[in-house]
Order: sequence, then C-alpha cells, then structure tokens
Amino acid sequence: MQDNALAVAWLRGFARAVEEDEDRLTALDSAIGDGDHGINMRRGTSHVHRMLLRDGPSGTMGELLDAAGRLLRTHVGGAAGALYGSTFQAMGAALPDGRAGLTGLGDALQEGLTAVVRLGAAAPGDKTMVDAYTPAVAAFREACAHGRSLGEAATAAAEAAAAGARSTVSMQARKGRASYLGYRSVGHLDPGAVSTGMLFRALAEEITN
Ligand code: ADP
Ligand code: MG
Ligand code: MG
Repeated sequence: MQDNALAVAWLRGFARAVEEDEDRLTALDSAIGDGDHGINMRRGTSHVHRMLLRDGPSGTMGELLDAAGRLLRTHVGGAAGALYGSTFQAMGAALPDGRAGLTGLGDALQEGLTAVVRLGAAAPGDKTMVDAYTPAVAAFREACAHGRSLGEAATAAAEAAAAGARSTVSMQARKGRASYLGYRSVGHLDPGAVSTGMLFRALAEEITN
C-alpha cells in the first residue's frame, strides 16, 4: 500500500471506529468528565471523513495527517481537540514526503506522543490518553527494532494501546477534568485512553486487512 493510501485508510478507519463507539466514549466521559468525548471526537472525525471523500488520497501521508490534525483541533474542541490536533500535526511534520516506511512511521508516532506530552504535561499513570499512547509507541518501535513487519508492529502497538487503556481503570486522574474527582475517578476507564486505543486498532486493521 502507498503511504498516502495508508494514511487515508487509517483516518477513515479511525473515523468509522469513533462513529461506531461514539455513545460508549460519551458514556465513559459522563462517568468521570463532562460527557462529551464521543460527541467531540465524532464531530472532528466526521470533518476528516468529509475531507477524504472530497479530496481522496491527494498529497503525501505527511500532508494528509497534518490536514486531519488541523480539522481535529478546530472541530473536536476541548482538551482532546488540542491534543489530537497536535499529535496528528506532529506526525504529519515528521513525514514530509516520500515513503514513510517502518522506521519513518515509528518516528512519526513517537513525535505524535511527544507533542501530546509537551502540550498536556501528563505522565504515564495520570489516567489520560498518554497511558495508551506510550506503550503503543514503545511496542511499535520495539517490533521495528526486532525486524518485524509493519503489520506485526502495528498489531503489537494496538494490543499495547488496548492494555494501556484498560490499565487506566485502577488509576486516579491527575490531569484533565477527571482530576477534579480525585479518588472518585478510580474504577473507571479514561475515555481519551480508550479513543487512543481505537486510533491504534484502526492502524493495525488497515495495515493487516
Ligand atoms: P474535555 O475534557 O475538554 O471535555 P474530552 O472529553 O473530549 O475533552 O477529552 C477528555 C480526554 O482528554 C481525557 O479522557 C484524557 O484522556 C484527555 N486529556 C485531558 N487532559 C489531558 C492532558 N493534560 N494530557 C493528556 N490527555 C489529556
Ligand atoms: Mg469531556
Ligand atoms: Mg468538554
């Protein structure tokens, strides 16, 4: 698959997953936030989906991810809009042109995570999307270092992201709205970690299907 076709498939797959799980994401955010995460994400990814329908795979993978980041920043809104916007724009900037390849994609994912941490200042264990993102990038890069294929790396990343999202149940939130709840945030999944799990699952599914 061409890199820009992969970017289109990944963004479409993520948009589809958000659409399917919109209510679940919103319900998760109702428990420990303000009950809008699914609505916010759906609004943003539907703009991305419309851009792809309109423009198709025009532009490089980097340009497509950057354009998606700008739409997410504008239309998701709230904390997640700024964070997803930054992560996609940072991935886009890390993939200027040509073929991304396995290491290029690993580096771009790392840049995406760095952008989230720079903006939101969350550490692993703070019960945020960083708890899914961090192990996912580590698993992806470790698979690359061991000479695995792109599909194997993306599958390992998706599994690590899902496990990371599950691990937020036992955490007390220290960033974002959920932190206002203090210890009452314990016992719930973090909605942003769950949507980040969906982002990595979409990548793995599009690569391996
Ligand atoms: P808002 O909290 O503005 O309503 P959303 O509900 O769309 O925004 O997104 C909430 C999610 O954003 C949280 O579940 C968490 O994963 C993520 N989040 C919030 N603050 C931070 C932060 N400082 N760093 C990383 N992720 C964060
Ligand atoms: Mg919210
Ligand atoms: Mg909100």
